[in-house]
Amino acid sequence: MTDACAENGLRSVEAAKQMLIDSIQPVTGTETVPLSQACGRILAEPVLAALDLPPCDNSAMDGYALCGEHDHYTIIGKSLAGHPFHGTLTPGQATRITTGAAVPTGADRVQMQENCTLEGDQITMSRPARPRENIRRRGEDVHTGQSLVPVGSKIKVPHIALLASAGVAEVTVLRKLKAALLSIGDELKPIGTPASELGDGDIYDSNRIALQAALEQLDVDILDLGCWPDQPEKIREAFTRARDSADFVITSGGVSVGEADFTKTVLQELGEIGFWKLAIKPGKPFAFGRLPRTDGETLFFGLPGNPVSAIVTLYQLVMPALEKLRGTADKQRQPPLQTRARLLNDIRKKPGRTDFQRGFTYRDDDGIQVVETSGIQGSHILSGFSAANCFVVLPRQGGDCETGDWVTIEPFTAPLK
Ligand code: AMP
Ligand code: MG
Repeated sequence: MTDACAENGLRSVEAAKQMLIDSIQPVTGTETVPLSQACGRILAEPVLAALDLPPCDNSAMDGYALCGEHDHYTIIGKSLAGHPFHGTLTPGQATRITTGAAVPTGADRVQMQENCTLEGDQITMSRPARPRENIRRRGEDVHTGQSLVPVGSKIKVPHIALLASAGVAEVTVLRKLKAALLSIGDELKPIGTPASELGDGDIYDSNRIALQAALEQLDVDILDLGCWPDQPEKIREAFTRARDSADFVITSGGVSVGEADFTKTVLQELGEIGFWKLAIKPGKPFAFGRLPRTDGETLFFGLPGNPVSAIVTLYQLVMPALEKLRGTADKQRQPPLQTRARLLNDIRKKPGRTDFQRGFTYRDDDGIQVVETSGIQGSHILSGFSAANCFVVLPRQGGDCETGDWVTIEPFTAPLK
């Protein structure tokens, strides 16, 4: 059997993603947090506006509030932001007004001061103001009682601004997810160990720190369980601890078919495997499963040990799953944006797996979006990944690509960007 045939039986990336999404139920616990700490959280309860926004008709310009259309107006006072004019204008009267100041009763338009000439208490203007011109209407943004942000929204800076403008000081959000993170491999040494102390074949445990950085950007609480040897009983202990203290576990290493790869065996023993091995490159040995607890279950994501594979599978598979788990509304859980770019180099590819090559894309001098793959594409080549700003997504059954071909690219977003 050729490689490509062996890979025909593998579950596709799309099917795996769909299965993850379909089988994961969002968390339900909530907490109330000050608005200042709500950015990035998922709104759990509706927030209704307690007032209209803007709260009153106010001026969009520095200028003059006018009553009716006339050749000239008599100024009878001023309305400044925070200091409204309390009288009522009659036709032909005006007040000085500043941006944001309440439009006085009787005024029906505002003329910007650049169009006005002032002589004593009289103003004339270079062009008439239209009715309602430069008046920001009460309630034109938000009406009292209106829902400000849909439940399930990930709260972003514009939401914070909107909620604050409605005077909201705290919001109820879904609780943060808790991750247990661990590495598996006898060869792994903690960063900080002097290079001179590494034994033959030892490497630094780079995955754990990279995955931790990624999860922190995803606003997940992390229990770092450290690094574990390639021993089934130790791995069992690690998985049990992870299961009992987190919503999901992320491991890296030991998930392949080598004689020291015990992740899958122990997962099967303590729980169940949802799937293992996908038609993805890099990242084929990715495993998903569940570890039942007395009070529920802990999801299990077994990432391959190869550092590029670990990050690519986290990004392509685990992140969409976590968005579902943390309660992000369906509409906001969109697949990453893809676009087309012209290839600046040849690419070798065997049919059989969807390939997420690492590339660098930019607009060339002619304004054409181009992409070049960033160096050799091994699943251990972190320098190329570090220099990349996008994936070049090569379809599963596709083969080689040539310079000048148009290919699909996926610009990196957080936490890769
Ligand atoms: P494995 O999935 O255990 O077969 O590991 C595949 C490759 O990834 C091997 O070259 C490992 O040394 C490497 N690897 C495994 N875990 C890590 C880790 N935590 N950090 C960096 N490299 C790793
Ligand atoms: Mg290993």
